[in-house]
Amino acid sequence: MDKLIHGKLIEAFNKCLQENVRLENYTTIRIGGCADALLIAHSSSELEDFIKKAWQINIPVLVLGSGSNVLISDAGVHGVVIINHAHNIKINAHNFPATLWAESGALMSKAAQQTATRAYSGLEWAASLPGTVGGAIFGNAGCFGQEISCNLLTAEILHRVKGKKHWSSERLNFAYRTSSLKRENEDAVILSALLKIESGNPDTIITTMKKNKNRRTKTQPPGASMGSIFRNPKGAKAGRLIEAAGLKGKRIGGAEISPMHANFIINTGRANAQDVWALIDLMHRTVLSKFGIKLYPEIQLIGDWDKEVLLSFNEFMFEQVTQ
Ligand SMILES: Cc1cc2nc3c(=O)[nH]c(=O)nc-3n(C[C@H](O)[C@H](O)[C@H](O)COP(=O)(O)OP(=O)(O)OC[C@H]3O[C@@H](n4cnc5c(N)ncnc54)[C@H](O)[C@@H]3O)c2cc1C
Repeated sequence: MDKLIHGKLIEAFNKCLQENVRLENYTTIRIGGCADALLIAHSSSELEDFIKKAWQINIPVLVLGSGSNVLISDAGVHGVVIINHAHNIKINAHNFPATLWAESGALMSKAAQQTATRAYSGLEWAASLPGTVGGAIFGNAGCFGQEISCNLLTAEILHRVKGKKHWSSERLNFAYRTSSLKRENEDAVILSALLKIESGNPDTIITTMKKNKNRRTKTQPPGASMGSIFRNPKGAKAGRLIEAAGLKGKRIGGAEISPMHANFIINTGRANAQDVWALIDLMHRTVLSKFGIKLYPEIQLIGDWDKEVLLSFNEFMFEQVTQ
């Protein structure tokens, strides 16, 4: 790292700063090269403070929640990575509708559990969803017919140019597995969110959560992954198309297309990011040539990638916006 930038980082973050940290321990697929610098935010105010300082010294900054939807390059990430552990949750029963306020690093599964414990309904779908509230809003995460956009009332956003504001669901312009923050690559961070919940029958809530968890266990493979690689095209399932293309079980290096669910890539133990990318590219190209259907990624590539990789990935992403 450049000496001047290093000096600025030390001055801004002092003892909180960790240097040259491998990111594999911060992603669910257990892959990721080094971050030049890493910070752990324990509250939304600390997250806000870190981001403002990084913007002030003009160093690239990336916020990670659980790292469950990202493929980080083997070459790592330049600048500062902030791991978001701001996890406070509060339920306000006196509001109408009742609301759950959560810091953006709170796990969706914890938010769902706490809602259920207080006999509130609305987050049963998220009981077994990996990832944080911030990550869910960024990518409009969803399952079992629901998504975070159905619950979100407002998100507290710190924007580099527009400052700190509460953004409505409309402003976040959600669509299938995306939001304006993801599509437009805005220089903005989600600090906290207010979600809509409603009182419900505790037995029904618990039964639904158990049913959803069982369904996930039965249909999704265990092991280190990023969940679904591709979004489902209209009227089809990405996993079925990849399976019909004959790719179930295909391995490159230590990465494998799951024999249980073909839209999942598993790190069998020694995979690197390049192995996983090679499989993603193969899945995309094979489905296109066999069925004439383009698959668009749900996951994101992060860090220092070769130009050609970024070009093809960005082409997928661009198509995603215009389709
Ligand atoms: C086994 C498995 C099953 C899965 N099943 C599902 C499923 O059923 N449905 C589904 O939708 N997804 C699923 N996923 C994907 C993943 O769980 C979701 O996308 C999740 O919402 C990502 O949250 P995260 O905290 O891990 O985000 P990360 O992976 O850490 O980050 C994802 C992106 O969001 C950005 N981001 C994160 N936090 C913030 C913040 N506070 N402010 C601004 N930007 C932020 C990051 O910079 C990054 O660009 C699955 C993943 C796995 C591993």
